[in-house]
Amino acid sequence: MDEAIQLIDEQKRFHSDYWDYFKKCTGDRTVGLGYHVISVFGSQSSGKSTLLNTLFHTKFDTMDAQFKRQQTTKGIWLAHTRNVNTLTKKDANGSNADIFVLDVEGSDGAERGEDQDFERKAALFAISVSEVLIVNMWEQQIGLYQGNNMALLKTVFEVNLSLFGKNTTGHKVLLLFVIRDHVGVTPLQSLSDSLRAELEKIWADLNKPAECSNSSLYDFFDLEFTGLAHKLLQPKEFEENVKQLGDCFVYQDNEPYYFKKEYHHNLPLEGWTMYSENCWEQIENNKDLDLPTQQILVSTFKTEEIANEAFNNFEQKYNDEVHLVIKDKTKLIETLNSLKESCLNEYDEQACRYTKSVYLAKREDLAEKMIVNFTQTVQIFLDELSKQLFQRLTREVTDKKNKDSSFSQRSKGVSVSIKDEFKDALDDFGKNELLASSEEFMEQFDELLAEEIKRLSDEEIKSIITKAYKNVTLVIKEDTIRLLSDPEKDVWDCILKKFEQTIKDALKKYAAGSGDSLTYDFQVGLSEEENNAVYRKIRHNSWHLLNVTVHDYLKEDTVVGILRERFEKKFRYDDNDSPKLWKNEEEIDQAFRLAREYATEVLNVLSLATTSDNVEIVAEFDEEDDDEDEYYKDDVGIYHSRRFAHILNELQKEKILQHFRRQINITVLDSKRSIIKTTTS
Ligand code: GDP
Ligand code: MG
Repeated sequence: MDEAIQLIDEQKRFHSDYWDYFKKCTGDRTVGLGYHVISVFGSQSSGKSTLLNTLFHTKFDTMDAQFKRQQTTKGIWLAHTRNVNTLTKKDANGSNADIFVLDVEGSDGAERGEDQDFERKAALFAISVSEVLIVNMWEQQIGLYQGNNMALLKTVFEVNLSLFGKNTTGHKVLLLFVIRDHVGVTPLQSLSDSLRAELEKIWADLNKPAECSNSSLYDFFDLEFTGLAHKLLQPKEFEENVKQLGDCFVYQDNEPYYFKKEYHHNLPLEGWTMYSENCWEQIENNKDLDLPTQQILVSTFKTEEIANEAFNNFEQKYNDEVHLVIKDKTKLIETLNSLKESCLNEYDEQACRYTKSVYLAKREDLAEKMIVNFTQTVQIFLDELSKQLFQRLTREVTDKKNKDSSFSQRSKGVSVSIKDEFKDALDDFGKNELLASSEEFMEQFDELLAEEIKRLSDEEIKSIITKAYKNVTLVIKEDTIRLLSDPEKDVWDCILKKFEQTIKDALKKYAAGSGDSLTYDFQVGLSEEENNAVYRKIRHNSWHLLNVTVHDYLKEDTVVGILRERFEKKFRYDDNDSPKLWKNEEEIDQAFRLAREYATEVLNVLSLATTSDNVEIVAEFDEEDDDEDEYYKDDVGIYHSRRFAHILNELQKEKILQHFRRQINITVLDSKRSIIKTTTS
């Protein structure tokens, strides 16, 4: 059996080491809500401690009969028992509940005046923290209102009412009146009737707060009455009576039981200790003691403490376990779920006994806190998944082996499939409530996907433009030079026709559509406008090529050569391409004139590029370039004239003709000499 300890001392200080006592009393057992608190109230030396010790086998100090003036130590004492003194009953649950007994030790009658404050506070404390308050009184005190018991009860009722006036929780305290030295002449029933009447009168006369002016004593208290024989004169009966009373503190079906559910404060033992400490502090400081609020405060503090502990354990395990399974979705979900569950279980186990609303709210907080961790982890998983999916996208979209499908078909197909895969993963996490919101992740993925597709299509376009350019380069160069080297009057018509045909042929490989309507679809998923821009870019490049080819080729010397060639062809060969044999000089002179005319008639054609209807040819350059400027810069930084048609100016033409004439004069002279040779030989 445990010694009693002083919970509140003479100086009205709450002893803070009481928790050690609780732990010592309860050992390794989890007490939870399975405990009871009972206290006693009554005049000094009215046998209170004696009663408690007999009833609960406690060891409170009593005033020894032999040394009457031995003073017990003032304060509120606490003792623990699991052993109720009973007559017939055994605990029906098979387990003896932990009972905490509070004994109030006031001062002796002589000093009472000075100490009413303590008694009032002690009573208030007892009512606040106990399920049952024993009111101990002598039989002969009953009916005498001046008995200070009742005066004190009045005060306690009053204060209690101001505390519980707002109380809607239905919490009650049992006031158990124990009538000592009950001789039995007046039956218990009539004693209890007069006590009840007295209490009801006190209640009616109370100054009640407006909000509970109609409330009844029985809204807050249950009343029970019992009588005990004189301990010294009738020790056997006294013992018997105490045991009968003890029966009421042990639960058995269909028998009176004084620890009713509605008396319990519904705080686990640990919470109750904090609660009672808070209560005492408020009482001692004469502050308003709002008990429901106190309970909420305790619940808030305790659930917070439990939640923090559970969360710390959770985080520790989290750091140990999660990184091992981060790459495996199934295992990851399993692990996260089990971490969540074990954290909530740990919390529930201890916290569920506190005020339900507080317990549930804190539980939600805890779950939310865990979701922050989950979200970070899921983000890492999804980032890795996205990376892999985008790699697959690049691989499958740029896979040229699959010739049956276009870029846009491939990119659409793969997009849908990787998006599905991502969404499935996201749903799996969402279903398991491991994410606050999956929408953000989906949006993020969609954004990245769009960027990836854009990147791939930009690359594809670039490669189409490059390849198309490569395709046309050789053909345009060869065709143009071939045509210019042996020009006819309609050479520019031919060049343009070839030029357009070459572009058209090249585009056939990369785009669907007709060159006639000038709309192409490069099958990369572009809009009509974007497709047109690509088409214009290809044309621009081709025009640049044509421009450079023409201007590079038609230099003065080359043109002289072209005219020479044309002259020679006409002068030296007949219509059947056979070399001419000259008979006389006139013949030569005539042929010379004809050939010269024939040769020079293309000089203007080569100098200014026009169509056969005399329209100057204007090259198409990209609209982005500044059209005002005559020069544009090519890819390697060389400037070229935009004036495609203007090939040779007058001065150049004059020089060309000069060179040409000199050369053909030699030709004609040679021809004439050859006649002389033949005629002289
Ligand atoms: P407390 O101050 O109320 O705790 O009273 P105690 O338990 O210390 O007892 C005070 C005195 O009353 C002691 O001398 C006891 O022997 C005596 N006493 C105890 N029980 C009874 C009882 O049932 N009847 C009478 N008349 N005296 C009692
Ligand atoms: Mg005592």
